[in-house]
Amino acid sequence: MNAGLLRSSFIVVIEAYLQHGMLSRSDLAALTGISRSAITEITQNLLDMGLLQEFPVIQEKQGRGRPAVSLRFSASHGYFIGVSVTDTPSLVILADMQGNVVGECEIPPSDAPQKLATTIRQAMNDLLRRTGVPRSRLLSIGIAVTGVVDENNGVCRYSAALNWRDVPIAELVKKATGAEAYVGNDANAVAIGEKLFGRARDLRHFSSLILGGNIGCAHYIEGNLYRGYDGGAGEIGHVTLDVNGPRCRCGKNGCLDMYAGGTAMLGLAKAAGLDCQTVHDLEGLATVGNAKAMSILRNGGQALGLAVASLIQINNPKCVLFADVEGFGKGIFQATTRQVIENNILPRFLASTEIVFHQVERSFLARAAASVAAQQYLRTGIVSRVNGSTLQKS
Ligand SMILES: [Zn+2]
Repeated sequence: MNAGLLRSSFIVVIEAYLQHGMLSRSDLAALTGISRSAITEITQNLLDMGLLQEFPVIQEKQGRGRPAVSLRFSASHGYFIGVSVTDTPSLVILADMQGNVVGECEIPPSDAPQKLATTIRQAMNDLLRRTGVPRSRLLSIGIAVTGVVDENNGVCRYSAALNWRDVPIAELVKKATGAEAYVGNDANAVAIGEKLFGRARDLRHFSSLILGGNIGCAHYIEGNLYRGYDGGAGEIGHVTLDVNGPRCRCGKNGCLDMYAGGTAMLGLAKAAGLDCQTVHDLEGLATVGNAKAMSILRNGGQALGLAVASLIQINNPKCVLFADVEGFGKGIFQATTRQVIENNILPRFLASTEIVFHQVERSFLARAAASVAAQQYLRTGIVSRVNGSTLQKS
């Protein structure tokens, strides 16, 4: 195969693994239209580079033939730093290619971008030293930010939580650390994390939601993150549920965030004179029969359920993943949301749509940030390595 063709075939093959997670050589040939012999050559190169690893798959039909061998990205190919930047203390993690967290550390809250970049450098050095991972194995850094992010240019255009406008955070972190850095919106990062490292590895159509102070949302369609015309897809938090409802920070009335966002619910609880610091406390009051707490949580679940029922009918995802960052747990909010979704979608969607709530671990958002770095490395960084090494052999 000539070098140009080999290079473009490499990109096609890596993209197929990004979309499907795990594929045999014959799956790969069927999906990409590349010949079996060329697939054998390309996968051998990727095995030699340590990017892919082979493992046998137990076949459902017993008996004839050799066991099928599938390939997927190798965990030990390299490592990524993930940082979730919030206004509370942020977590920095070191993860491998399969999203296993090998080290983590906390950094103090900082909204000053330059200071944050320096802190990330210190955390990076600390994590590499503690884990014994050599600097040469660190492939890139991913940063997840709440707000509007220009991912192509690595700039946070606007973040209300951090009070940022047009902050070139990727460039600042790259200068401070010497490592390639990428920035992503946190809701998109969570979807990428679910696809690459998490519960959606085998899914090509899914939506993921962050249940936090506000509601974040992102969609995978046909195996790719759907960003919309200019990156604004997924603003479910500002779906209007009542034009006469309370004024949202976006300037509209009755947005979903005003009913189902953790921040708004705690505000309602405070206004109702309830003694609770977290939504977990609020669920606790509801469990012991507090009518005000039950009402706030039911209204929130009702609002979220209606918005998600519409989303299911518009996009037809195979699965909707709710990441419970705020800590609602298995209480009234979750039960109401599920019930309202089920009561308000067409019967044909009822059996085919999986609804999954999961309580997230502490490193969830930082791990999502690391997945942004891994995805960018696989889309761009690896190509330069392919150019530099493997192609010279061909
Ligand atoms: Zn709004």
